[in-house]
Amino acid sequence: MEVVSLPGQVAKGKVWLVGAGPGDVELLTMKAYRVLKSADAVLYDALVSQDILDLIPSSAEKIAVGKRAGKHSAPQDDINQLLVTKAYTRKNVVRLKGGDPFIFGRGGEELQTLVASGIAFEVVPGITAASGTSAYAGIPLTHRDYAQGVSFITGHCQLASRPMDWQGYANPNNTLVVYMGILNANIIRDGLINAGRSPDTPVAIVSKATTASQQRFIGNLNDLAQLAADPALEMPALMIIGEVVQLADTLNWFEPAALSQQQTHTNVKTSSN
Ligand code: SAH
Repeated sequence: MEVVSLPGQVAKGKVWLVGAGPGDVELLTMKAYRVLKSADAVLYDALVSQDILDLIPSSAEKIAVGKRAGKHSAPQDDINQLLVTKAYTRKNVVRLKGGDPFIFGRGGEELQTLVASGIAFEVVPGITAASGTSAYAGIPLTHRDYAQGVSFITGHCQLASRPMDWQGYANPNNTLVVYMGILNANIIRDGLINAGRSPDTPVAIVSKATTASQQRFIGNLNDLAQLAADPALEMPALMIIGEVVQLADTLNWFEPAALSQQQTHTNVKTSSN
């Protein structure tokens, strides 16, 4: 890894690696809120919701370094370099990431660069998409009758050197949460069914979880690719695979439409101030 530093200078700032949660602004931690409010520069990902970006003080420099599957974005090395450069010139640099920065967020890699450059940092955890989705879609990730454990996996399936452990994921007593899996739904379905997971296993795909545009697509493992290809499905979306999905109708409480009315109401109040 290339280490960046500015000769003869000492970094005066600190980097805060902050989890922004899955979307709903109220799912931000109080610590993340406080840190964001005192930011001098914020580097943020495409996944961070607009409501959260609106909390950034207008005096702070805002830099989009977002990543979205298949879309152009800043290469990771450039992001690492930018973080270091900003820490030399700004006091409070916030690296804001969707969900939790240590779950499929490359937060660890970015911190390794900071360590190599001698820059101080702190980490503020966030509510990961699996927890946000589970709560707002009414699907507990574990349940004494249905699942004794849960695994969070990436559905990128792209590294031949690190093959997916389908045998392990096929355990019927385990809930499987797949991040970044929509484009590989057929590979995931085949991998699990070939390893022995029942084609009737209930599955849910939840898009834009915790926001006013949340949608749930519920079916079984056999239909996973069809559910993922639904034209109404918007990104980001998460898959939950396992018997716990049976509870999705009984425990469904969240009404995205009600949230959008509430937000409209809040906006009206704000603009009259
Ligand atoms: N660090 C993030 C995950 C980054 S990977 C976290 O802890 O949540 C990006 C993937 O997260 C997306 O492809 C999608 O699968 C999932 N994701 C993030 N936000 C989501 C949301 N609001 N609704 C559904 N899935 C989401």
